Amino acid sequence: MIMKVSVILTSYNKPDFIDRVLKSMMEQTYSNWELLIMDDSSDEDTIQKIQPYLDDERIHLYAHKVHPAKRLLTVRYATLINEALTSITGELICYLTDDTLYHQDRLQKMVDVFQSNPHIDIVYSSQRVVHVDKHLVETMSFVREANQILEHASFQVDHCSIMHRRRLLPLIYEKYGQYWDDEPKHWHHADSVFWMRLNDFAAFYPLNEVLDMTYKTPHSFHHLFSSMPYDLIDGTVIEKDGEYYQIAGGKLHEIEKCWVNEKNRRAIRVPSLCAMKYEKKDRLEVPNYTVVTADHGNTFFYIEDQKKRRFVSKRDVQYFQFRPKEIYTISNEQLQMFEESGLIQASPVFSPPNRRLFKWKQDVYLLMHHTFCRIDPEVVKRFAFYHQPIKLYPSQFTLFQEGKPIIPLYMESLQEFDMSLYNTSGRKHS
Ligand code: UDP
Ligand code: MG
Repeated sequence: MIMKVSVILTSYNKPDFIDRVLKSMMEQTYSNWELLIMDDSSDEDTIQKIQPYLDDERIHLYAHKVHPAKRLLTVRYATLINEALTSITGELICYLTDDTLYHQDRLQKMVDVFQSNPHIDIVYSSQRVVHVDKHLVETMSFVREANQILEHASFQVDHCSIMHRRRLLPLIYEKYGQYWDDEPKHWHHADSVFWMRLNDFAAFYPLNEVLDMTYKTPHSFHHLFSSMPYDLIDGTVIEKDGEYYQIAGGKLHEIEKCWVNEKNRRAIRVPSLCAMKYEKKDRLEVPNYTVVTADHGNTFFYIEDQKKRRFVSKRDVQYFQFRPKEIYTISNEQLQMFEESGLIQASPVFSPPNRRLFKWKQDVYLLMHHTFCRIDPEVVKRFAFYHQPIKLYPSQFTLFQEGKPIIPLYMESLQEFDMSLYNTSGRKHS
């Protein structure tokens, strides 16, 4: 019996790599395979690199169209894999990304294990992980070893290092109602979530040989999304092609350069994928979370949700850590356009401005829409908050409700796992 292997390759804009990936398939010493290229609307360059390989009848291209705004709604590779799993014809399945090369014996060696061990359902092998810079020059590399039978393979084994029998699929589907979990919080770990499902039914058997080599490029999600929460924080100013935008109320609003450059508001760069999901709306004359004065510093206002809140005194401006260079002068007419909405003061009634950092016990909180959201230090850094957290007294902290913590996306997914089950020393993303 010669077993057929279905290889599912997810592809998105890696013109520099895809050719080598496909070549590594063509060079396999084992020939009974099919390759499903699940392309996620790649650029022309990438498609052109794929084209010549389509002459091989084992290779099939599934070209997906995805609207840019929809790209972050699911873990795209998991969504594409789920679709591929409904069309495969092999008894053995493995996964490949467009920045990973299989060793030429990879399929042969894994198939051999299945042929001679009918009780084994999943095999994994060692992997070389290579980090490269933007010129594709190696900056560091290490080997992720496959040296033991794993009952809990999540976070130890990569996307591209396993092969499993097809017979596990209906079991998973029956239990979970789907194969791979493509909820967006799993962007970094959807493979580990799937391994957990596989582990419900079988253990991972090791093949202690490096059979694939995966590259981490500056464009990979791993790098782009580290420290990014799923949603951009309201009020964030981003720069894109020389234009500036502010996230306000879940929409992207253009703002004048003067609000960013002359003063101390820092614009951050975010992966274009993150910005694409926000609909563009009209320009804001004065961005939110800006301190303004129209009478040369006698009275100060804070613009929040396109309304103005008056600081009771200049001391309150200082108390909440606004520095002189963050204060903008606007005209009286401009100020009049904003509806009044409450006061800002430190005491006697603690009425703080939103989008300021506060410190309570060991943690930093961001006040957002009048709730204290614990914010991870990595996110504080990534979003370029430039003031010191303001220390809170117990009576102040309890005045507001606690909101959803603002943490990097990968941490959100990790919270679902019982990490004590895994050897996290070699913790991995995707
Ligand atoms: N991918 C995709 N659609 C996207 C982004 C990524 O199908 O919008 C695929 C990509 O082709 C790759 C996998 O998801 O096969 C993981 O992406 P990447 O290599 O960028 O991430 P990392 O290696 O850092 O996890
Ligand atoms: Mg990758």
